[in-house]
Amino acid sequence: MAEKSEIVKKRKVPIEKVRNIGIIAHIDAGKTTTTERVLYYTGKTYKIGDIDEGTTQMDWMEQEKERGITIMSAATTTFWNNHRINIIDTPGHIDFTAEVERSLRVLDGGVVVFDAEEGVQSQSEKVWHQADGYQVPRLCFINKMDKLGADFERTIKMIKDRLGVKPIILAMPIGSEKDFVGVVDILNQKALIWDEKKDPKGGKFETKEIPTDVIKQAKKYREELIERVAEADEALAEKFLRSEEISVEELKAGIRKATIANQLVPIYAGASLRNKGVQPLLDGVVDFLPNPLDVPAIKGINPKTNKEETRPCDAKGPFAALAFKIQTDPHVGRLTYIRIYSGKLDAGEEVYNSSQGRSERAGRLLLMHANNREQIDSAEAGEIIAVVGLKEATTGETLCDKDKPIILEAITFPEPVISLAIEPKTRADQEKLGTALNRLSEEDPTFQIKSDRETGQTIISGMGELHLEIIVDRMKREFNVEANTGRPQVAYKETISKIAKGEGKYIRQSGGRGQYGHCFLRVEPLGRGEGFKFTNEIRGTAIPSVYIPAIEKGVKEAMEKGILAGYPITDVAVAVYNGSYHEVDSSDVAFKIAGSAGFQEAAKQASLVLLEPIMKLEVTTPEEFMGDVIGDLSSKRAQVQGTEARGQIRVITALVPLAEVPGYATTLRSMTQGRANFYMEFSHYQEVPVNITEKIISTKGGSASGGEAKQGLPAGRQGLQKRK
Ligand code: GDP
Repeated sequence: MAEKSEIVKKRKVPIEKVRNIGIIAHIDAGKTTTTERVLYYTGKTYKIGDIDEGTTQMDWMEQEKERGITIMSAATTTFWNNHRINIIDTPGHIDFTAEVERSLRVLDGGVVVFDAEEGVQSQSEKVWHQADGYQVPRLCFINKMDKLGADFERTIKMIKDRLGVKPIILAMPIGSEKDFVGVVDILNQKALIWDEKKDPKGGKFETKEIPTDVIKQAKKYREELIERVAEADEALAEKFLRSEEISVEELKAGIRKATIANQLVPIYAGASLRNKGVQPLLDGVVDFLPNPLDVPAIKGINPKTNKEETRPCDAKGPFAALAFKIQTDPHVGRLTYIRIYSGKLDAGEEVYNSSQGRSERAGRLLLMHANNREQIDSAEAGEIIAVVGLKEATTGETLCDKDKPIILEAITFPEPVISLAIEPKTRADQEKLGTALNRLSEEDPTFQIKSDRETGQTIISGMGELHLEIIVDRMKREFNVEANTGRPQVAYKETISKIAKGEGKYIRQSGGRGQYGHCFLRVEPLGRGEGFKFTNEIRGTAIPSVYIPAIEKGVKEAMEKGILAGYPITDVAVAVYNGSYHEVDSSDVAFKIAGSAGFQEAAKQASLVLLEPIMKLEVTTPEEFMGDVIGDLSSKRAQVQGTEARGQIRVITALVPLAEVPGYATTLRSMTQGRANFYMEFSHYQEVPVNITEKIISTKGGSASGGEAKQGLPAGRQGLQKRK
């Protein structure tokens, strides 16, 4: 593979002309196809669907594609109209919440792809609101206008109603379904026609007059657009009220401002698969999405002063960057993708990892293109690059200038909800398995590995069955390790439901060096998802403050072990309010044991309950199977939240305990002859009903299925079975 190839010479691009964007979509809406077309139109060297010549890089991409997850690296650099566009990969499946959060964190703008038949699906709705959280300005691409059942107007209405945004149409479709031929450029009032007969390979369009049957609608959209932009821009509002002509350039500037301020959302119609509508969308990215200077300065904490500081996008400022993805590349090994927020980084330079408090040397710096990579000497604020040679930095950590340290807001990831035991098929693979799992968990913070205290088995956990299946599959493909896995186990948790107190004592004072630790603790329930809080309420000298951390440590260990059924305890506030110590005999160890014992005593009196993960489920099915799907869900403790018709299909949304839906893919397939789809994502933890709690406690574990719980082995002692 060519580095510094002829095609991509380093083009120095001023920061105003950089766009860091992500393409975001519900699975199957067309993210992959759209991304591929974007790379084609922007890269020129990459032919549509033409994964040619079998170069290693392409093989690698082919594999990725086969897995249907992504076809690109974590950030792919490309050029359009003299602008550099860095496309940050976003995951196609909701099981990868961590990936969504991670990518939203570093991108400046997004293109959200919708399926014109299905409209706003609930995954898109969720990602949309996640993006709201990060205030990411967005464009919408209504894809699949050629598909049977495509409905532009309905999709726009859903965007308005469900996402609560003000859309403005920039490219409206001409025709629909098989008659979809192109779009009207609303600003310029021109038709862009992609003629498949004249240009069978696709991609070229001709500019024509607007066909008479859509002229009225095109005018209406333009009027609406002007009105909306004027509402958002005072100077334009005056002109509008005086009925003065507003030029296309003025409108563009107004749209840009309002889009970046998250007041308006530009909409484009197209059909990526038919090569229609992608170029206007790319113009939109350049015209309306922010450059790194347009977005607010990143915030962080100075680890020396514990005070908040900001780092505006400035190449002359102190260096600050966030590592947002680790990827193992078949050629150069570990690649750390970073977004530089401030300052400049040279190849070979030493950087300070403020999250870990140590320095390491960056090796080569790379820009990853769709079909090659480019070695660069340095990179500046606003840029996204891959660094070779960083061995320690992991996802979410800050790299910065040692003299001006800052820890940028870390990305928060949800806890895994499902786990299974895994072992290599042959003993010889034991070591390889360890390496593979470590690598994969390095790449993905929601994928965790631990070893079971009692059985010594390796337990992996993640965000859903599919998530773990993909991991096992990647181990086979990328690391050549075949594994047997146990039945998926639901990650239950324990919590308390009232306030209680407990005393912990560890006193040994006969012969030799004595031990003395003694504390009184109070436990209080916290809100769902709040985790753990620890406070020291000792005012006098009952326990010297040096021993407090040891008590906290003991409490944490006891929480980890659980009490009711051996599941970790969560959502508890613990306060140490009294105790005693001994001048000579007290030690950290003694206070740790006392803390652990005190917590256990308190928690046992605080009405412990079991919590289980509840999943949000969305099933998309032909109408004829709707009754069966709902009936099945009702038998699974599910709460059906709604049903809805979209074109030819029906959508059912429900909340269902994870324990009730093991292997739901298979269940649904056999129930609907494979014609329904679903996606599932973690929603929240909820108390397990009493009768089921009893069952789980009596089997001291519980399996992925409530029904199987009785015969299921305790968590961590699951029998291993062959993977199909
Ligand atoms: P992703 O899961 O969002 O990455 O979606 P893909 O790009 O893999 O597309 C999902 C399916 O939709 C594939 O079968 C594509 O061929 C198809 N598809 C993508 N774009 C279009 C389009 O513009 N029109 C039609 N009819 N199908 C499309």
